Amino acid sequence: MLTGKTALVTGGSRGIGAAIVEKLASQGANVAVVYAGSREAAEALCAKCGAEFSVKALAYQCDVADFAAVKDLVAQVKKDFGSVDILVNNAGVTQDGLLAMMKEESFDRVLDVDLKGAFNCIRHCAGLFLRQKAGAIVNVSSVSGMMGNAGQANYSAAKAGLIGLTKAVAKELAPKGITCNAVAPGFIATDMTKDLSGQDNGLLAAIPLGRIGQPQEVAEAVAFLACAPYITGEVLRVDGGLAM
Ligand code: NAP
Repeated sequence: MLTGKTALVTGGSRGIGAAIVEKLASQGANVAVVYAGSREAAEALCAKCGAEFSVKALAYQCDVADFAAVKDLVAQVKKDFGSVDILVNNAGVTQDGLLAMMKEESFDRVLDVDLKGAFNCIRHCAGLFLRQKAGAIVNVSSVSGMMGNAGQANYSAAKAGLIGLTKAVAKELAPKGITCNAVAPGFIATDMTKDLSGQDNGLLAAIPLGRIGQPQEVAEAVAFLACAPYITGEVLRVDGGLAM
């Protein structure tokens, strides 16, 4: 159980992030739900968590790519909740396109949100974790970062970078009792993949378990890694065997 712990979940307003928020709240964690633009969804989710699980849940608007804004965010969450014990770096975007035509801004924005966003959050939570001599970080990477995906040079690079970041942080913070792990989802049914899910493009045939995953299945893995004190630097695929 996570009773009395506070989890900060980025991209908590929709999709996988919302499932993570619900899962952690169902285990008793108070939750800080960070969103970019979906204020209503984030606030509705907080109300649901409060009503169903009797936890404290508050929504925060923040662009995780903004170093200074993330600093203010972490300070505000600390003020509101008293501590941060679990950090889930889930916020992410895609701007897919073929490499030969990919705009510089598309590469930069995906790296800024998906990779630097996680660095910003870890960087600003690290001081709290070091003082507490405790903390758990879970980064949401992707099988794209393990296998590479045509049409996703920016996203694959960001998600591969996130795996390197996970391992470096795990080694650096382990002596202080802080863990850092990653999950690597495959093809999960969310807004991010809704344009692909209707297509007969061979995706299902490539998944040994023969189906798309659900956000709750990723949330289970995140919740496991959030309280696994002897696991660090691990990358846990949640992909139906896709990247096997
Ligand atoms: P989604 O449904 O598109 O939701 C994305 C979430 O990230 C939303 O909560 C969004 O907030 C938030 N967000 C986007 N940009 C942000 C920013 N600059 N600052 C703060 N928050 C921001 O995506 P998803 O499918 O749930 O994906 C969640 C994570 O899983 C991502 O890191 C994604 O790369 C990863 N992933 C997904 C899949 C998949 O198949 N779906 C597979 C592998 C990995 P708003 O609601 O306010 O826009």
